[in-house]
Amino acid sequence: MTAARVLARADELSLHSAWDDGILRAYLTPEQSRVNAIAAAWMREAGLRSWPDEAANVCGRRQIDDDERPALLLGSHLDTVPGAGRYDGILGVLVAIEVADRLRDAELPFALEVVAFGDEEGTRFGTTLLGSRALAGGWQDAWLDLHDADGVSLREAATTFGLIPENIGAAARPPGSLVGYLECHIEQGPRLEDLDRALGVVTTIAAAERRMISFRGEARHSATPWELRHDALLGASEGIVAVERIARDQGSHATVGRIRVEPDAVNVIPGFAEFSLDLRDATANRRDATWGLIRHELQHIAVHRGLDLEFASTHIAPEAPCAPHLREAIAAGIRTTGDESPIDLVSIAGHDAMAVADLTDIGMLFVRCAGGISHHADESVREDDVALAIDALEAAVRHLATELV
Ligand SMILES: [Zn+2]
Repeated sequence: MTAARVLARADELSLHSAWDDGILRAYLTPEQSRVNAIAAAWMREAGLRSWPDEAANVCGRRQIDDDERPALLLGSHLDTVPGAGRYDGILGVLVAIEVADRLRDAELPFALEVVAFGDEEGTRFGTTLLGSRALAGGWQDAWLDLHDADGVSLREAATTFGLIPENIGAAARPPGSLVGYLECHIEQGPRLEDLDRALGVVTTIAAAERRMISFRGEARHSATPWELRHDALLGASEGIVAVERIARDQGSHATVGRIRVEPDAVNVIPGFAEFSLDLRDATANRRDATWGLIRHELQHIAVHRGLDLEFASTHIAPEAPCAPHLREAIAAGIRTTGDESPIDLVSIAGHDAMAVADLTDIGMLFVRCAGGISHHADESVREDDVALAIDALEAAVRHLATELV
């Protein structure tokens, strides 16, 4: 059974980790080098010609496909966050390899390729989607000067890995070389489980923006009377609670995951407090409408408490809609598994498909995961769901073959 093989392979890849206890596999590390070699071998077993590209993504193309025809690309990523599960990204690569194996001799009106991206999570250098952005033509040489937590530059890490740093951008596929990109991924949310469905069709990947928000007041001795205080941390605290209230009301996803206080002493009123805000919604318009309400409330808090307020955007991504004909192909694939009315889902999480969308049309297939748990060791999928995912993705490719003649 191919689903059993996928799960066994996910177990095998999980052993290649920088940590003994828990999975950590970051870009341009010895762990990546090992899983890349294994994935390349599996691609060859599946009848693909395999090669590492200039950005340390592993690529494979059917032996029977010449170099001229544009390709349908199937894939996902092999890197992980710290303390990861076994399936985020990995499942999509392994399912893609199974589908390529099944279609190794199939007559298709396009070439068929598989890709295992080297960096989606941005764990090591803080900037996400490095592998997929390189393939999509979005690589920036300025990223060579990014540093990891140990002070190693991306340039040094690339050289150690065996890449030529100045050449990474050459991983870019020419416009017109792809007919589309399909990615299978665990849902990382509970909706499929709640609806008792194995698979879902992604309609769009949510728009996201990250900001750092800071309140500045006055650091004073804790003997200072209430009426003379300008406590930056109380402003930030009120602000964080407001973020939750407003984002819940608006149906947006908002997370404050980091907070920093100065001078960070037990008997000093905080003169400075800074927190991060990760805000997502189905469209940039919806996201920005929620931010407008949050900003208004933060300004109100600042005035009320006599604080200075500043905010800076650190990351912004528009929504990445899936192409209607690829959504239909994924839905048609799911229908062949017996689900007559496939569920549409917005992906709140980001994916390689967002980066690839700059180059070609994208489509995504979501697979139920237990409890919606992801980015955690408890991440789990059912073997029968994986079997349906392989069937559905294969059928989606065959559906496209009839559409794109
Ligand atoms: Zn992922």
